[in-house]
Amino acid sequence: MKPFGYVRARTVPEAIEAHTSAPAARYLGGGTNLVDLMKLGVETPATLVDISALPLDTVEDTPGNGLRAGAGVRNSDLAVHPRVRADWPVLSQALLAGASGQLRNAATTGGNLLQRTRCPYFQDLAQPCNKRAPGTGCAALTGHSRELAVLGASPSCLATHPSDMAVALAALDAELTVAGPGGTRTLPVTELHRLPGAHPERDTTLAPADLITAVTLPPATAGAPSAYRKARDRASYAFALVSVAAVLRLDPDGTVRQARLAFGGVAPRPWRALRAEDVLTGARADEETFRRAADAELAQAAPRPDNAFKVPLARELAVAVLADLATAQTAPEPQP
Ligand code: SF4
Repeated sequence: MKPFGYVRARTVPEAIEAHTSAPAARYLGGGTNLVDLMKLGVETPATLVDISALPLDTVEDTPGNGLRAGAGVRNSDLAVHPRVRADWPVLSQALLAGASGQLRNAATTGGNLLQRTRCPYFQDLAQPCNKRAPGTGCAALTGHSRELAVLGASPSCLATHPSDMAVALAALDAELTVAGPGGTRTLPVTELHRLPGAHPERDTTLAPADLITAVTLPPATAGAPSAYRKARDRASYAFALVSVAAVLRLDPDGTVRQARLAFGGVAPRPWRALRAEDVLTGARADEETFRRAADAELAQAAPRPDNAFKVPLARELAVAVLADLATAQTAPEPQP
């Protein structure tokens, strides 16, 4: 590992000032991804600004029944928070589907959003990779791309975003609070991650010293039936080949009043399925509708030969999750 400077910040302004004044600085939260990448030589910050002591570790209700989680809240704590489990089960399930118990105990809400791709060539300094070293090429284009993107890729990069939590947050229309040198602003989580285009080295729309300080879940999705399901090569401690986060609320006549759908493991960012939502909203909640919705979204997929399986997998996973959510709302109450 290369030598680096270390600064421990006590307040958000202090962290931003330290980041702004140090060359090639990076924020250090749980460190579960950044430190691994530093050991590999993929990340070489000159200075680490430690933000683990910032007062960003609380979860609180917001007016109107929303919820605000500080960016320093650990993944394991957010997953078992009583309101998250009751009102946004899709988020609790996504968090519990990610990583291992030990990692969830260390990883933070903000850091989970900012983790980097697990494309094997990104982590291998001997391979060309436009994301790690801009302009060097993309080893995945002629190599192994089974786990990589079928939506939103570019000729420069077809990496996927690895977060489960971010997929749930996309389906929930969550909003981020971002502090930076120019002040504090809000940012829809769906506008955090960018598609690679010609600049895959930039994962997000954040400026260098921007710091995510909180994630807010809006009241509009509180209490709505929701679920997260993940298809992966083994039952635990594996990244998604495909995942689905869904919110589905039906009217009494069996039509869809509210639908939110997002895919993970298929694109360089959590993929909010707006075309599918258009098909779902107002339609009868049955398998034919769910299949039509998934197909409308996946019609834009551009798979490669070794990851073409992701398209039917995403379709069937989405249909299954939506069907389960619909059944749970239409099944007769059990008799005493
Ligand atoms: Fe690098 Fe992206 Fe190509 Fe992977 S897919 S090697 S991350 S440029």
